[in-house]
Amino acid sequence: MLVKVLDTNLANMIAAGEVVERPSSVAKELCENSIDAGATSVTVEISGGGLRKLSVTDNGCGLHPDDMETAFLRHATSKISSPKDLDSIMTLGFRGEALASIAAVAKVTMFSKMEGGSFGKRVIMEGGHLIESGPAGCPVGTSLVVENLFFNTPARMKFLKKDYTEAGYVEEVVRKLALAHPEISFRFVSDGKEKVFTPGDGSLKSAAYAIYGKDVSGQLVPLEYSEGGIKITGLAGNMTLYRKNRGLQSLYVNNRCTVNRTMTAALEEGYKSMIPIGCFPVAIIKLDINPTLVDVNVHPAKLEVKFFEENKIYSAVYWAVKNAVCVKVMPKIDASPGSDKPIISNSYSPGKPNFAASINSVREEPHGDTSKYEYKPTAAQQREVVFQQKPHVFENCESFDSKFEKEKPAGASNKENDITDKVFEETPAGADKKIDNIEFVQTAVFDTSESYKIIGQLFNTYILVEEGGNLVLIDQHAAHERLIYERLVREKAEKKIMPQMLLMPEIISLTPTEFTAAMENKPFFEEIGYEIEEFGDNDIAVRGIPYVITKEQIRDSVVEIIDNLRASKHGTETSRGERILYTIACKAAVKGHDKLTMAEMEALVKQVRESEKTITCPHGRPVRTAVTKTFIEKLFKRL
Ligand code: ADP
Ligand code: MG
Repeated sequence: MLVKVLDTNLANMIAAGEVVERPSSVAKELCENSIDAGATSVTVEISGGGLRKLSVTDNGCGLHPDDMETAFLRHATSKISSPKDLDSIMTLGFRGEALASIAAVAKVTMFSKMEGGSFGKRVIMEGGHLIESGPAGCPVGTSLVVENLFFNTPARMKFLKKDYTEAGYVEEVVRKLALAHPEISFRFVSDGKEKVFTPGDGSLKSAAYAIYGKDVSGQLVPLEYSEGGIKITGLAGNMTLYRKNRGLQSLYVNNRCTVNRTMTAALEEGYKSMIPIGCFPVAIIKLDINPTLVDVNVHPAKLEVKFFEENKIYSAVYWAVKNAVCVKVMPKIDASPGSDKPIISNSYSPGKPNFAASINSVREEPHGDTSKYEYKPTAAQQREVVFQQKPHVFENCESFDSKFEKEKPAGASNKENDITDKVFEETPAGADKKIDNIEFVQTAVFDTSESYKIIGQLFNTYILVEEGGNLVLIDQHAAHERLIYERLVREKAEKKIMPQMLLMPEIISLTPTEFTAAMENKPFFEEIGYEIEEFGDNDIAVRGIPYVITKEQIRDSVVEIIDNLRASKHGTETSRGERILYTIACKAAVKGHDKLTMAEMEALVKQVRESEKTITCPHGRPVRTAVTKTFIEKLFKRL
């Protein structure tokens, strides 16, 4: 075998594989060059998802005509010149790889003119070769036009998604950069349509308004915190703003957009118990730190950074969030002397932030097909449940007894009576655990031939029903949710979900990505009973809603459906449809802690008894369970 050094062109194509993964990576590299060039206005225009054409035009310092060809050479950069510069990188670029890589896998035309320069120049590169170079009329600044991306690397093409998805990724890059640089006006145009335009007035709040729309930006509070040389600024959602995924979280380190588990973990720990479980906070977090304490050179596309002292980063982000979000709501008790940490009232503070535990939770975001994160009983499990449900055969105090037998301390009395005593002793502290262990309850199958009596509502959450020899408990939310879900599934299959038309349309402000997702899925919305239409700048007008949804639930339900649609892009049509029907059913169902009237309880119990499917709610939680008369009699030592 002959060992040869690869020719430059081939080496560049290989390097391109790392730097240029898809159109959005080209957009990122070119925009970063514009930012490094001191531009105050950057326009990104694409067609065909950025594959056919992608251009980035800035009003930055421009390149000297003599440097324009050189800039396309691998490792050609004006940003660093000695190894010590690597320790304190303040520019976004420094590897001198982007232009060489992009030019290796596309046709690239660069126009550039410097301030005070007598002429502009144009350089055309294709597949790594110089095609043309000469003077050209152009304004001060630089414009790069990238055409036919990946024309010579067909393998790469196979990994790309549909044009609109790739366009969405480019838009995401522009949004993230625009939030990092409110002093720069960013414009993003896809297939002739303006999707993003930020004013560039220097205010993060205005950039957030332009990017996220008025609803989201109106619920953001400023972050301002410093600790141990780390400064945190940005915006974070109040407690009523959250999403089902991390799509609205943007992290920056020294103004470099990044992905970092420590920061994410701290952010989410900061919101723990303030937003619902399974939801993710919305935030723009900007962390500034001495550049010698962070390594930005750990990822070819510079997407990740490495901190030397992760725990300090964690603490700073955590307290920045706590300080901004909950202190605003709960009165702050004075800060301890000599400490710059706020002391938050006990009812709010989760105590010390738990770095180790929360960092692990960062892995848990439902990405892609979320179905694998949800508990769905398998067919076998369902069968097992049904099998266990021999009507009225709940005389399983034996197994209950034998469980306790094992737990009894040596020498303890064997009398049956002790068992119930023990239940009572244990109840206050270990109640939940014990209930799990004791098999005195079982999912009930109703014997519809039996007469029944509704006893009432327990804890405003469970309906108690006496039926034959059982006390049946029904979880009102789970039951109602399952009933609505089954009805929606049936009606959707029969194309019968009729919208209930609104007298006044409800206008909802969305982020550009949410808006695109809503518009792309308009027919799907129609199938499930929503009539939506475009209403100007990222706003939609909802004119009709499924009959189970109330007016107050319109906004939340639409946003949640969009979240679901985006999260489940890769799921099958059916799994996606099912998940969205759960969402609607969950929204529409009565909640735990809702007080019900006797008539409401009667209606619900009647339907639960009639429906075979109300064993579990759509998420797999039991709908009904029963306690035997025998067990109750044992409690009272009647047996
Ligand atoms: P890097 O950004 O890592 O230095 P690039 O390959 O992205 O490497 O760019 C090479 C060089 O070309 C840069 O160092 C810079 O001097 C110049 N350059 C690229 N884009 C621009 C631009 N938009 N305006 C001014 N100079 C630019
Ligand atoms: Mg660069």
